[in-house]
Amino acid sequence: MADRKAALIIVAAGQGTRLGGAPKQYRHLGGKPVLSHLLARAAAIPAIAPIITVTHPDHGQPYAEALAASGLTSDRAFRAPGGASRQASVRNGLEFLAAADFPADGIVLIHDAARPFLSEVVVLRAILAAQAAGAALPVLPLVDTVAEIDAAGGLVSNPDRAKLRSVQTPQAFRFGPILAAHRAMAEAGREDFTDDAGLIAATGQRIATFEGDANLFKITLEADLTRAEMHLGAKAPIIRTGLGYDVHAFTDGDFVTLGGVAIPHDRALLGHSDADPLMHAITDALLGTIGDGDIGQHFPPSDPRWRGAPSRLFLADARARVEARGGRILNVDGTLICEAPKVGPHRPAIATLIAEVLGLAVDAVGVKATTNEKLGFAGRREGIAAMAVATVAFSG
Ligand code: MG
Repeated sequence: MADRKAALIIVAAGQGTRLGGAPKQYRHLGGKPVLSHLLARAAAIPAIAPIITVTHPDHGQPYAEALAASGLTSDRAFRAPGGASRQASVRNGLEFLAAADFPADGIVLIHDAARPFLSEVVVLRAILAAQAAGAALPVLPLVDTVAEIDAAGGLVSNPDRAKLRSVQTPQAFRFGPILAAHRAMAEAGREDFTDDAGLIAATGQRIATFEGDANLFKITLEADLTRAEMHLGAKAPIIRTGLGYDVHAFTDGDFVTLGGVAIPHDRALLGHSDADPLMHAITDALLGTIGDGDIGQHFPPSDPRWRGAPSRLFLADARARVEARGGRILNVDGTLICEAPKVGPHRPAIATLIAEVLGLAVDAVGVKATTNEKLGFAGRREGIAAMAVATVAFSG
């Protein structure tokens, strides 16, 4: 390990809950985990060795799968345990290199696992910049005009964007100083640094910048995964939309179930299951994206098995049907139509629950409500209606 190549530390210990389901570094992209694309690209860059991936202690299995899918041999790839914070995880990666006698004047690149499209040119720019300056980070000019806003969202000023840059990884450092800085900050009890340039800057070190790469975008949202699929050269995904509508009439009772959440009310909803119009509408919207009938066909009201059933069963079934056809749910959006009860206070709980059932980020679940202005059956408080749409991506 004591050759003159640059070490790469991949920070992959995050739990990555924003995308829902698996952490983002293990989400599938072109049929393989995101991390395996990065490992394969890093392995193809001769200037890099070794490659240390810092993973969550519980992620041994997904890491092993990503490594196997990358084709990278284990003599170039090493795993270090993640810590309680990003900073602690990087420190563990650096200590791994220290234990392997990585030279103090060698260059170490520290890179986010969620930026899989690492290119040789960026790595070479990083190494050159760090050899010259000791510490360097990749930046991109800002395309859009930048606004500084106040707490109420009003415009304060337009900072001169010529002086501003967006920051990417890999950030590059001489090994000795970055290791020393990490150790010093840990000893001082400072665990609040979200990136390594910020950490070493706190020791007084000047940081140089070098040109980043637009293809090094970070995968944070579902839309980024779709962009990454397109970048891989896969055909543009096919997006399908489905529509759902449902109504349940009021009956005697003291609560209604809306979006899986029991809400106290002076009436109940009549139906064979838990009579949840929002979940039923979303279920039908999902089934609509694959032309697979409707909820009544799969769970007939005449079947006693579904009496009182929780509707999340139907929703989970629709998700499984979509995924069995190769679909990836992008978002669902529903509207409840009723004069009462008030849905607003329960919106976060409903969105969280539906996101959980569908493996989505919470912001990919729209939950809205409106009255019917006292018009029609909903306006006369005879029942509650719900409408929903779903979008699903299929490979092209
Ligand atoms: Mg229904």
